Amino acid sequence: MHDSADFPHLFEPLDLGFTRLKNRVVMGSMHTGLEDQLHHLETLTDYFVERAQGGVGMIVTGGYSPDFFGKLTPFGATFASGKMAKAHQSLTQRVHEAGAKICLQLLHAGRYAYHPFSVAPSRIQSPITPFKPFALPRFMVKRTIGKFVKAAMYAKEAGYDGVEIMGSEGYLIHQFLSSRTNQRHDEWGGSFQNRCRFAVEIVRRTREAVGAEFILIFRISILDLVNQGATREEVHELAKKIEAAGATILNSGIGWHEARIPTIASMVPHAAFTSITHELRRNISIPIIATNRINTPDIAERVLNSGDADLVSMARPFLADPEFVNKAQAGHAAQINPCIACNQACLDHIFENKKASCLVNPTACEEKEWKAKLKAAATHPRKKIAVVGAGPAGLNAALSALKTGHEVTLFERSSEVGGQFLLAANVPGKSDYALSIQHWESEIRRLGGDIRLQHPIQNAEELKDFDEIILAAGVRPRDPKIPGQDLPHVYSYDRYLSERIMPAESVAIIGAGGIGIDVATTILHAQDDLDHHPQHFFHHWGIDPAQPSGLVPHFKPEKTRVKITLLQRRKTPLGKTLGKTTGWIHRLELKRSGVNYMNHLTYDRITREGVWVKLHSGEKKLVPAKQVVICAGQESENGLAAKLTQAGISYSLIGGARLAGELDAERAIREAWELSARGY
Ligand code: NAP
Ligand code: SF4
Repeated sequence: MHDSADFPHLFEPLDLGFTRLKNRVVMGSMHTGLEDQLHHLETLTDYFVERAQGGVGMIVTGGYSPDFFGKLTPFGATFASGKMAKAHQSLTQRVHEAGAKICLQLLHAGRYAYHPFSVAPSRIQSPITPFKPFALPRFMVKRTIGKFVKAAMYAKEAGYDGVEIMGSEGYLIHQFLSSRTNQRHDEWGGSFQNRCRFAVEIVRRTREAVGAEFILIFRISILDLVNQGATREEVHELAKKIEAAGATILNSGIGWHEARIPTIASMVPHAAFTSITHELRRNISIPIIATNRINTPDIAERVLNSGDADLVSMARPFLADPEFVNKAQAGHAAQINPCIACNQACLDHIFENKKASCLVNPTACEEKEWKAKLKAAATHPRKKIAVVGAGPAGLNAALSALKTGHEVTLFERSSEVGGQFLLAANVPGKSDYALSIQHWESEIRRLGGDIRLQHPIQNAEELKDFDEIILAAGVRPRDPKIPGQDLPHVYSYDRYLSERIMPAESVAIIGAGGIGIDVATTILHAQDDLDHHPQHFFHHWGIDPAQPSGLVPHFKPEKTRVKITLLQRRKTPLGKTLGKTTGWIHRLELKRSGVNYMNHLTYDRITREGVWVKLHSGEKKLVPAKQVVICAGQESENGLAAKLTQAGISYSLIGGARLAGELDAERAIREAWELSARGY
C-alpha cells in the first residue's frame, strides 16, 4: 500500500510568488461538450467541483475561443463578453470553495475550425478539416491579439486564477509559428523571429493587461511531429521569449492534430515524452508541466522525481476518477479507477458531437444525477446478490451493488477475473486494461464482496437463495462453421491471445473487426515490448527529438516479417468500425507494416495450405497461411438464462450476455451501474 509519503514530489506545494498551488497535479484541458452552451454551465461546474474536491491543485478548462472566427465548431464556445464573465463567476467561486485553482484555456482553432469562416496566417487548408481558411489581413492579426487580451481580462473578471494560452497542437498560434502554415511576407511571417511575434505579443500584451498576479500558462509545442515543424533550438528560443514576455508556467504540447503519429492513445508508453520536457526545463527558469500518458500517481511521481517537470498534467484520468489525488494522498492509490487511454467514451464522443463520458466511469460529466441516483439506491433494503461472470460487466455489477449497500457473491468459471479485458491486456499497447481489472477486483474484495473463482454455475438451483441474480457471463467466440476450421493450425482468437501463440511465417485472420485488428497488431509486435519503452515506440514511429519536427528524416517503417492477411466478407474499408481517434492509428500501422487486407469475399474452406476464398468476381483463391486465427465476432453466453427462465427464477441480463452483436465494454459497464442505480 502507498501513502502520501510515497509521492513526496506530487504533494509538494508550488509557490508562484503571488499565489501558491497546493500540489503539483494539474487537471489538463479537455473538451467535454459542456463548454459550448451556457445552459450546461451548472453541469460543467459540478464536474469541476467534483475534481476540485478530489484534491487536484489546478484545473484548466476546455478551450474557449477569444473570438467568433476561432470557434472549433459552429456552436463552439467563445469567451468574449461581460455576460460570459458574469455567468462563470459562480463556477470559479465554487471551484475555489472546493480548494482548487482554475484557469480558462484560450484556444483559437485557426484552420482547424470546423466551419466556413475559419482563418489562418495563410490560406492553406489543413488535411483534417474540409474548410479552406481565409488568410488574416494585417489589421485582423492585430485585432485577434486584442481579442486574446480581452478574453483574458474577461477570465479575470470571471474569477479565474489565470488563463492557458493554447500555442500548440496545430491551432492558430502554432500555425503562425510554423512555416508549414505561415507563408506570409509581412512582419508576422518569414523569419523565425517574425513567426514568433504573434505568440509573444499575445503573452506580452495579456500580461500587461491582467497585471502581475494572474497565472499565465503558455502551451508550447515541444515536438511538432509534422514536416516543416520547429527544430529543438527554435522550441527553446521560443520558450525563452515566452518567459520574457511574462508567462508564469509553460505546458508541454506534443504533436499537431494532423500528425500521423499517436501521442495519447493507449499504444503510447507511459510518460513517453517527458524526457523532452526535461530538456526544455533546463533552459528556462519558470515551471513547466509534463503531459501525455501519465495515468497513475507512481508515474506522475517518477516524472517529477526525475526532474522532467515541475508539474504533471492529466486530463482523461480525472474523467475516470475525480478523486485521483485524494486517494493517492490518503495512501489508497489502489482505489484509483485508472484511465486506460481507450478514448472510446471521451474523445470519440466529442468527435461525434456527444458529451464526453468515460468507459470505466459512466458517471463522468453526469456527476450530480448519478450521485442522487446512487444515494437513493443505497436507501433500499440490503439484498443478497449473485453476479455470474467476472468480465467488465460482472465486475462493475458487483462493485456498484456493494457501493449501494448489498451483499455480493461473484461467480467466475475461470481462474481469473477480467473476461474480455484479460484478452485485451495481452494486446501490445493495451496493457493498461490489466490495471482496470486489478482495480475492480481489489475494490470488490475491499468492500467485502465474495469472489468465487473456478466456480461455473451449471444450473438454476445453485442460485435459488439469492434475492437478485445478475447474469454477466459475457460471450463466446462465434462459430463461423467454415469447413476445415478444426485443423490443428486453426485457432480461435481467445486462445491465440491468451496463450500468446508464437506466430508462424504466414497467418490468415478470418474477421477484420476490432479483435481481428488486435490479433494482427499482436503478431506485428510479437517480439517487442511496446508498452514499456519510449525508445522502442520512438523507433517504431520514426520519432527523433533531436531532428527538426522530431521526425527521423526519410523514415521507412519496418515491414512485418510475418505475412499477415486480414479477411472480411463485407465490402467496407479496413477498420471501419473502430473509434475515430484510434482507428486511423491501427489502419496506418497495418498498412505501413505491409499487412494485407482482402474483403468482399466468402469463405470456401480451410486446408493445411491456408484459406480458400471465393472473390466477388467468382474466382477461387488460396490465401496461403501456416496459421489461421478466427476472429468472427461473438455470441452471447446465456445458456444459464434459459435454465433460470425454465425454473421461473427472475434475473437481469447485462453486457455481452445480453447483446453480443455489439459487444462493447462502455455499454456493459454502464448497464451494470444503471442496474444498481435502479435498485434492480
Ligand atoms: P466485430 O468488430 O463485430 O467484428 C467481427 C468480424 O467477424 C467482422 O470482420 C465480420 O465481418 C466477421 N464475421 C462475422 N460473422 C462471421 C462469420 N459467421 N464468419 C466469418 N466472419 C464473420 O467483433 P470483434 O472484432 O470480435 O470485436 C468485438 C467488439 O470489441 C467490437 O464492438 C469491437 O469494436 C470491439 N473492439 C474494438 C477494438 C478497437 O477499437 N481497437 C479492439 C477490439 C475490440 P464479415 O461478417 O463481413 O465477415
Ligand atoms: Fe480514459 Fe477511456 Fe475513460 Fe477516456 S473513456 S477517460 S480514455 S478510460
